[in-house]
Amino acid sequence: MPTSSIPLNQFDATQGVFRLSNSHPPAHLPVPNPTKSFWIDSAPDANPFAKEGSEGALTSDADICIIGSGITGVSAAYHLSQAIANGKLGKDKSLTAVILEARDFCSGATGRNGGHLIAATYKQFRRLQETYGTEQALRSMEMENHTVEALLDIIQAENLADAVDLAAWGHNDLFLTEKEAATAEGDLNSAKEAGVNVKSVEILDAQMMNDRYGTPYPGYRFPSHNLWPLKLVTELYKLAKSRTSNFSLTLHTRTPVTSITPSSPSASSIMPRRYTVNTPRGCISCSYIIHATNAYASHLLPQFTGPAGIIPNRGQVIALRAAIGRDKLGMAGWVANEISEYWFPMPAKYDGGKDGNPLVILGGGREATAPRFELYEDDDSVINEDVSRLLKDFLPNLFEGRYEKGRKPEMEWSGIIGRTIMRDPFVGPVLDVDGDPEKYEGQFISAGYSGHGMPRAFGCAEVVVDMIISEIGGLEWSIPNWLPDRYLTWNRFLNKEHATMG
Ligand SMILES: Cc1cc2nc3c(=O)[nH]c(=O)nc-3n(C[C@H](O)[C@H](O)[C@H](O)COP(=O)(O)OP(=O)(O)OC[C@H]3O[C@@H](n4cnc5c(N)ncnc54)[C@H](O)[C@@H]3O)c2cc1C
Repeated sequence: MPTSSIPLNQFDATQGVFRLSNSHPPAHLPVPNPTKSFWIDSAPDANPFAKEGSEGALTSDADICIIGSGITGVSAAYHLSQAIANGKLGKDKSLTAVILEARDFCSGATGRNGGHLIAATYKQFRRLQETYGTEQALRSMEMENHTVEALLDIIQAENLADAVDLAAWGHNDLFLTEKEAATAEGDLNSAKEAGVNVKSVEILDAQMMNDRYGTPYPGYRFPSHNLWPLKLVTELYKLAKSRTSNFSLTLHTRTPVTSITPSSPSASSIMPRRYTVNTPRGCISCSYIIHATNAYASHLLPQFTGPAGIIPNRGQVIALRAAIGRDKLGMAGWVANEISEYWFPMPAKYDGGKDGNPLVILGGGREATAPRFELYEDDDSVINEDVSRLLKDFLPNLFEGRYEKGRKPEMEWSGIIGRTIMRDPFVGPVLDVDGDPEKYEGQFISAGYSGHGMPRAFGCAEVVVDMIISEIGGLEWSIPNWLPDRYLTWNRFLNKEHATMG
């Protein structure tokens, strides 16, 4: 029987590490020489906006500065364009926005992740229910359904499935231990009792799993998607830019924001702005700022440093060729070992190697980095050799005969996850922990998805944009019925109990 080569159930230990020390410095700026990821670097045309706006004059003024060009920043631009096009501020009202990106377009976590777009469906339900109550646990499921459905609707409406390499072949949770199987069973039952629609979750016992996929562990299977994250963000950017002439969107890559200072009103100001956003290429005046910087948020906002804030955490991914054809491999996205390892085969057009076999994207391997799990690491220019070894052996050990032992990955890269102790993002106005209500007025953040951003970032960006549009339009903002209250910034820093809850 194949065995896992790795120590299991390390997640609890990881949570403990968050609390070890409060003395970490704020995150650095993203390093200029990241490892090469499959999504960004496997084809010369994979990132058409890579260097967009990196040369020439810098925009000097915008209503809204968005810092970061990953899925959060670009989703925010998308939602702004929608709001203006839909006349949320009045028929002919226009807005200007600029996206500032430290490196190439979408070269942070979104350009380096595992490619899974998985709504929670039932996962973690019992923990969420016990910690936050049934209504909030239900919202946690709803928020991810809302986000995934919204993205799939855009992909369908704009006919983008092929352009973003959407693969709809479902998702398998694989249970390597009895504890994992018991936790999943508890989550599924609690979700069902609370009224979550879990009809699509199929229970696969060890025999069924072996017959279908060639691994003798039980698991659950449900509908889900994988895609090429950079291509999705590229398409969202194009849509945001072209939606309406009343929304002007500019992108400046290779333009790190180094500081933000309050603007001093000058006699020549036609339109007084709240802030000056400073970069090595010059500065930009703006009234609103969206921090879409995820793991790097504390560089500009030091109150997000340390365990109660957003913790940078290096993750690692490989692209590995399977040893058999796709008809025998069985198409599915997977998560195993309590969300540590995750993998899926790319669509058929990426089959290759000497036998034309599928290319599998596999991430995880955090177990190899115990006891500190590369928390507080924000350098994605290096890979960890222990993680490499673990990832290389992982699939051959789980699926006998389907992956070749010792086969070298075709690509390997790292990326920086933005973790929070609650495993949930901060969404809303930036607050000053020292109590000055005006210090960050007009600054907003959506960041800290804790390695699970694809089914959340687009929805969280929608919330932040809705707050800004409400403020500009003098409208009252109310929380959507799908957003968990605990995501909101004012329920986090102002509530120390939540800030330390694991
Ligand atoms: C290895 C790995 C695997 C993952 N796998 C998955 C997965 O399969 N499914 C899933 O749901 N989630 C996954 N995640 C998490 C997911 O990728 C993130 O939650 C999501 O991409 C976050 O998007 P973002 O736009 O907020 O951040 P990012 O994509 O990191 O974007 C932030 C951007 O801000 C820029 N920036 C930072 N500071 C500054 C500054 N001062 N000035 C200008 N620009 C700045 C950065 O360069 C970066 O481009 C994974 C993450 C990693 C690292």
